[in-house]
Amino acid sequence: MSAKIIDGKAVAARVRERVKAEVAEMDTKPGLATILVGDDPASHVYVRNKRSACAEVGIESIHHELDASVPESELADLINQLGQDDSVSGILLQLPVPGHIDSDAMIELIPPDKDVDGLTTMNAGRLVQGRAGLVSCTPAGVMELLDSEGVDLRGAEAVIVGRSQLVGRPLASLLLARDATVTMCHSRTKDLAEVCSRADVLIAAVGRAKLVTAEMVGDGAVVIDVGINRTDDGLVGDVDFDAVAEKAAAITPVPGGVGPMTIAMLLVNTVKASHLQQDDRGAAVG
Ligand code: NAD
Repeated sequence: MSAKIIDGKAVAARVRERVKAEVAEMDTKPGLATILVGDDPASHVYVRNKRSACAEVGIESIHHELDASVPESELADLINQLGQDDSVSGILLQLPVPGHIDSDAMIELIPPDKDVDGLTTMNAGRLVQGRAGLVSCTPAGVMELLDSEGVDLRGAEAVIVGRSQLVGRPLASLLLARDATVTMCHSRTKDLAEVCSRADVLIAAVGRAKLVTAEMVGDGAVVIDVGINRTDDGLVGDVDFDAVAEKAAAITPVPGGVGPMTIAMLLVNTVKASHLQQDDRGAAVG
């Protein structure tokens, strides 16, 4: 079998068009506040890309750059101020922040309905309980990719490798909500190959180049590779792409698979956040 390559760029472009059309219809334009602390070059690139994606679809962006030595209290004040600002629909604190800042504590200051990264305890809890909320962008992007392929998740064996707060755990909740039978693997899993080989849908989110080999993948599986690893051969995922593509029914490439979905879903979340706040204000007025 030679797998169908799932084109994340094309799916992300469709999502962005959808968001653009929706924003055009909105009376109050959504606004995304980005906060960048310090001068990590990769973070600067990520934030720049997020802001230009906002501009493309008509989302206002409000950017704050703070010095690496900024006191935590100053960052906290800024987040609180943005939390109360009606022109701000979503707040994104670019991670990582410098070591003297408690990133978990800063994230908890973001009002849950402005938490476009879905990282607050409130949104993580809502997700686990199967309640509506803002969902972390990369897992939401994985679900969008599976849906774009028409993958039937009901009763499917879904195996996730990696149990991070950012990717693995939220994905497990999203797949459960869609009636998949979910197994989570991690660094202590005893027979990773055996568990992975049972998967109808296999998702790798570890950060180890070519961890998932062809022997670990069952014939006809759908394979989603979240990993991003910089190697001498350039950017690669967690999946041994060429060999696995011979067995899988469909597979995401790296780059060009999950990566483009993350920003697209941030735009979706910003619009969703804007609606949540409009509803709140409506309720307060009514
Ligand atoms: P993380 O380091 O927080 O978590 C890695 C997980 O992998 C842990 O749960 C750990 O238990 C598990 N693990 C480690 N070694 C393992 C092994 N040998 N076998 C099985 N499991 C093992 O990482 P993260 O933030 O979830 O990111 C994972 C990867 O996804 C990274 O490469 C990251 O760059 C990438 N990522 C990509 C995007 C995107 O937009 N495409 C977004 C977020 C993360």
